[in-house]
Amino acid sequence: MLIADLHTHSRVSDGLLSPAGVVARAADRGVGLLALTDHDETGGLDEARAAAAGAGLRFVEGVEISIEWGGLQVHIVGLDIDGSNASLNAALDSIRTGRVGRAQRMSTDLEKIGIPGCLDGAMRHAQNPNLISRSHFARYLVEIGVCRDVRGVFDTYLVPGKPGYVTHRWATLDEAVGWIHGAGGVAVVAHPGRYRLSRQELRALLAEFKDLGGQGIEVVSGSSHSPELCVEFSRMAREYGFLASSGSDFHGPQESHVNVGGNAQLPSELAPVWTAFR
Ligand code: AMP
Ligand code: MN
Ligand code: MN
Ligand code: MN
Repeated sequence: MLIADLHTHSRVSDGLLSPAGVVARAADRGVGLLALTDHDETGGLDEARAAAAGAGLRFVEGVEISIEWGGLQVHIVGLDIDGSNASLNAALDSIRTGRVGRAQRMSTDLEKIGIPGCLDGAMRHAQNPNLISRSHFARYLVEIGVCRDVRGVFDTYLVPGKPGYVTHRWATLDEAVGWIHGAGGVAVVAHPGRYRLSRQELRALLAEFKDLGGQGIEVVSGSSHSPELCVEFSRMAREYGFLASSGSDFHGPQESHVNVGGNAQLPSELAPVWTAFR
């Protein structure tokens, strides 16, 4: 049975391993089809592809694009993209630019509640300064003992309504889908169970995504998908005619509870997203 993991992160965004390290770990764990999907960044794909060539697994290039939809941050994964596509990279560069200003505002807000030095501290955890992320802030706050783990930092400081959360202008849904299609890829709604959306709102998102030509949905995700949600998203995949994707959303051995390739198999009645790969 093919082990496919189509959602992983490296140090190029907010993961903890190098791109080659993610590939090596996947190969060790018997993954046969892997995508690296760093946030808003394709800079790790060359290294990963080269590592995969010697590791005996099929590698497809990916990206996870941060968008704003209905006032929330939503993620759209692009799979089997051409990561060297100039328009895609110019677009991603433009959305990355705002991250530094956002990080400065987060740091200022955290200082106001008595936690100084967060920008410098978070930057020390970020290999790629343009991809400074809430994950890097969370790791710094764990490092200095403010919380015991990253999840605790998010719950207490970094989600909407909490003191270190600042709003940000991300891309739009149609921009992200357009960029992915322009780079020859398949667009997939990432971890649909993670958004604070009612079922009605989620359906509106899926309908809009479908109208824009979006093709896939993560039915299985290592990022907070229970077996019950998997059943529900399988039903939605069939209802909307979406291809089904499965990914661990692996960020690092210490942080992710689902290992690379540890994501469950797709239900056999669904059309897997890789049937659309080139
Ligand atoms: P950002 O793109 O800077 O807004 O950061 C988003 C990243 O933070 C996600 O890709 C996850 O890796 C991480 N994240 C978001 N919510 C949580 C959470 N509740 N617990 C742990 N990590 C989270
Ligand atoms: Mn992440
Ligand atoms: Mn995500
Ligand atoms: Mn992810």
